[in-house]
Amino acid sequence: MKIGLISDTHDNLQNVRKAVREFNDNHVDVVIHAGDFVSPIAVESLAGVKLVGVLGNNDTDIPGLTSTFNKIHGELKGEIFESVYDGMKFAVYHGTNLAKKDQLIKSGKYDVFIYGHTHRKDNRYIGTTRVINPGTAKGWFFGLFATIAVFDTSSRNLEFINL
Ligand code: MN
Repeated sequence: MKIGLISDTHDNLQNVRKAVREFNDNHVDVVIHAGDFVSPIAVESLAGVKLVGVLGNNDTDIPGLTSTFNKIHGELKGEIFESVYDGMKFAVYHGTNLAKKDQLIKSGKYDVFIYGHTHRKDNRYIGTTRVINPGTAKGWFFGLFATIAVFDTSSRNLEFINL
């Protein structure tokens, strides 16, 4: 299966719409958002994909975000989301608390660990855990390009896409 990865959209609605088009063109089965939507309106623009998300440090309007997730039939999972996709154990955490992030990665419990927050792309192994950050979909934040990613669970290939 193909999993769309996106993080730190920070209300860039234009890029969110571009990301939805990319995810649909890539026929992803699910889209994981690693947090920092910021306002509920940014979630509404993700309608059209099967969305699962976790809360970032800037996601303070939890009632508003929850209601928008419900409206687009998405699932807002709180701070940490764990799931098994295609036999691989995933954990998703925004990465606000560095110690907590390290602890989750180094627990060795996960095949894939997804995070955001740093706005920097990451794709490496720490122990047996594949550690992935799709970068920021907002773009030009700290001078960085806007990126998302698609992970293929069969080939384990990760493709970064510039928005
Ligand atoms: Mn953040």
